Amino acid sequence: MKITKIETLVLDDIGPYAWVQLHTDTGLVGLGETTFHPHSVAAFVKEALAPELLGEDPLDIERHWQTMYTMSRMTSNRGVNMCALSAVDMALWDIFGQAVGQPLYQVLGGRFRESIRIYNTCAGSRPGQPAGQWDDLAAQWERPGELAESLLSEGVTAMKVWPFDRYAGKTNGQFIGAQDLEAATRPFHEIREAVGDQMDIALELHNRWNLPAAIQIARAVEPYSPMWFEDCMVMDNVEALLELKRSTTVPVCVSETLSTRWGFREVLEKLATDIVMIDIGWVGGLSEARKIGYAAETYKLPYAPHDCTGPVTLMASVHLCMHLPNAVIQETVRAFLRTWYGEIADPLPEIRDGHISAPRSPGLGMKLRPEVFSRADARVTVSDLVSTS
Ligand SMILES: [Mg+2]
Repeated sequence: MKITKIETLVLDDIGPYAWVQLHTDTGLVGLGETTFHPHSVAAFVKEALAPELLGEDPLDIERHWQTMYTMSRMTSNRGVNMCALSAVDMALWDIFGQAVGQPLYQVLGGRFRESIRIYNTCAGSRPGQPAGQWDDLAAQWERPGELAESLLSEGVTAMKVWPFDRYAGKTNGQFIGAQDLEAATRPFHEIREAVGDQMDIALELHNRWNLPAAIQIARAVEPYSPMWFEDCMVMDNVEALLELKRSTTVPVCVSETLSTRWGFREVLEKLATDIVMIDIGWVGGLSEARKIGYAAETYKLPYAPHDCTGPVTLMASVHLCMHLPNAVIQETVRAFLRTWYGEIADPLPEIRDGHISAPRSPGLGMKLRPEVFSRADARVTVSDLVSTS
């Protein structure tokens, strides 16, 4: 089998996503995805990766990963190059699963579980769209108790919120005053009042604070027993993370902003996190996400894949969670799952009673909907054996 065509798709009206399809001479097509700077990803795939991959056997996943990484490390571990590598790697695994007629969780090493608990990230449906019924972003600020009740009624027992983001801009995250601390802590209070301890609450900080402010925030939410405290600072100083971890009882979560096993090495060695989070579309694909999962297990740490990116990344993550024994929970965004995810890809992973599962069909078990290629906002970049030879 050989790779004959590589296609990237960007839908300008949907958001900053790039989908990669690897076509083969057997008719199998592998699907991958990444997020942010999608037109640059498409250009990088065409300029740098396609010449290395066209004509090659897609089943040699590890060899292709090393080729793409060796090329990419000329710049940095995280950027357009790592996003492109991640999407291509995801598509290679999809082909592998289809070629052997097995779902991805099987070819990743076999199934450990049949479903995994989810949490709902309380985002809006997407920028520029009417808020609609699933505007959980507005709800997390305006009616957090009601939002928690709504999630519980669906069997979802964990949620992620970011009430402190609104106050970070005032000081560029350098200081948080008593009034803002109190106001941003209020949603925790309201959720606990509404549903007690039935709901686990993760706090997302989006890398917006410095160390002293992060410590103050962590201590302010301690009485509400959050599930974790995520990405409070830019993840470029492991000693600062350790200091944070020593300063609070709230579990620390690090981080989908890191890429590759080398990006996680010091965090793991120093036990600077309590939960390991990755995004398959950024970390180096399924190849790398799996290795980091095993590394986390070695350090006795649970593993929680990121979503809030796209449907293909979610599907790949669910397969990985079926395989990894230390996977603990999968992020989902109901505002995305019930709006645009289904417009792009089919089928979506099944969610029942607050748990998500992977399909039993070969590979990812998910395809792009054919009609996305004829949308007015579709931008398709193609590399094939003919045009590059
Ligand atoms: Mg995050």
